[in-house]
Amino acid sequence: MVEPQPFVNDRDLAGSGQRRAVVIGGSLAGLLAARVLADHADSVTIVERDRFPQGPRSRAGVPQDRHTHVMLESGQQALETLLPGICAEMSEEGSPRVGLPNDLVAWQSGRWNRRTAATSHILTGTRPLTEWVVRRRVLADARIKVLEHTEVMGLLGNAARVRGVRIRERGPDAARRDGVALDAELVVDASGRASHAPDWLAALGAEPPRQETLETGLAYATRLYRRQPGAPEFPYGGIHFLPNPGQQRTGLLLPAEDGLWTVLLAGLRGSEPPTDEAGFEDFAGLLPHPVLRDWLRTAEPASPVHGFRNTANIRRRYDLPGRRPAGFLATGEALCSFNPTYGQGMSVAALSALALRDALNGQGGTPTTLRVQRALSGAARQAWEIATGADRKMPGARGSATRSTLLDRPADWYLGRVQRRSCGDPRVGAAFRKVLALSAPTTSLFAPAIARAVLFGPEPPAPAEPPARLE
Ligand SMILES: Cc1cc2nc3c(=O)[nH]c(=O)nc-3n(C[C@H](O)[C@H](O)[C@H](O)COP(=O)(O)OP(=O)(O)OC[C@H]3O[C@@H](n4cnc5c(N)ncnc54)[C@H](O)[C@@H]3O)c2cc1C
Repeated sequence: MVEPQPFVNDRDLAGSGQRRAVVIGGSLAGLLAARVLADHADSVTIVERDRFPQGPRSRAGVPQDRHTHVMLESGQQALETLLPGICAEMSEEGSPRVGLPNDLVAWQSGRWNRRTAATSHILTGTRPLTEWVVRRRVLADARIKVLEHTEVMGLLGNAARVRGVRIRERGPDAARRDGVALDAELVVDASGRASHAPDWLAALGAEPPRQETLETGLAYATRLYRRQPGAPEFPYGGIHFLPNPGQQRTGLLLPAEDGLWTVLLAGLRGSEPPTDEAGFEDFAGLLPHPVLRDWLRTAEPASPVHGFRNTANIRRRYDLPGRRPAGFLATGEALCSFNPTYGQGMSVAALSALALRDALNGQGGTPTTLRVQRALSGAARQAWEIATGADRKMPGARGSATRSTLLDRPADWYLGRVQRRSCGDPRVGAAFRKVLALSAPTTSLFAPAIARAVLFGPEPPAPAEPPARLE
């Protein structure tokens, strides 16, 4: 009989002969990690604090799910690889597919993007819909078990090796219960940006990861709408005002499922959007053009205004060497959470699951925990660099990741030129969007044809008003 290989092959790992995996958190990163681990494990158990709703509904453990969420093209492709046909399922459930730049008319750096043919698409169904479609597919796999309404309270094992988690069922007398052991050879933390894993590791005598942060005080306010019957024709598939250091407000109007539209307003510290009805509309009037405020006047609210302020970029450096146990990994927002303006977190969760798959399948024998962790951290790197690179320049940015290096200055100068040219030069625009969609590396912006246009070409004219028609 062939001996089962351990998941990870650290020298201090005394193999138990079993491969049981536990995933902490059953949101997108946890579901997708479980999907990958099912191909490698004897058992996979997701431990989730919430009870999952029957259908596409909000839940307490994902408080951000009332806010606008977009799935970038890289995320769609990664999801398709992991769960073939999933994007078609999302479309069947009503998630709109919005073309860039033709459908979503965008204001950026003081000008409107030209409305040329789409070179990239985003999925814009609500966050509960996206999670529900993914959850339905992942949990249909009989190899994956879920413990709902159950929370992880800590890790089992020692500083050399994790041996499972301590769990307790939630409920009125939960506080009085110490919890029970759930043994595992691999524990994956996918518990989101508020992860307690650094404390749990410290309790085992291990080194918590160094934490990098960058926050701009960004606050979100989101509301759902429906168009009023007989409302005037609206020539845009969506409207987007992107912030910059001189214009610190965001406005985003996008279609969602079932005839709903989401309106997101956001602002940096000192420009936070109000969450009362009148203030919400007034804030839309402060954007650089009245098109979004005017649209609000033709629409009926379909939800209250929801606020959200927990938007810092946080990166936990589990990829750096340290006295940390074998058999413990972090993924998703528990590893790296982003300022949500850039719409990256769900895509990074999917790209991370692919990185986990590749690391576990990799050549050269069973990988070490650190090697797998580095693959997960690598999957988040470009998104982190985009988010912190832009946020660092915002007034009032705070945190350890605000420090820039000598190389950042010329890179910022070049990217500023890319951004300004991307509105009026379709080729530069397409290359820029691919990078922002995490479908191409940032270095692709230095390809000769793009560099020529960026460095030597004149700044091409861009529309002064939101273009009503496709070119
Ligand atoms: C306002 C806002 C807007 C966003 N917009 C976008 C967007 O447009 N596009 C995009 O791609 N991303 C966006 N994101 C990010 C996106 O929401 C996340 O990246 C995505 O949900 C995946 O995160 P996750 O699975 O790592 O963690 P989360 O979704 O935060 O889920 C963590 C899960 O862990 C569970 N959990 C926590 N602690 C425990 C415990 N101790 N025991 C058991 N279970 C536990 C929670 O109940 C929850 O289910 C946005 C985020 C915010 C805050």
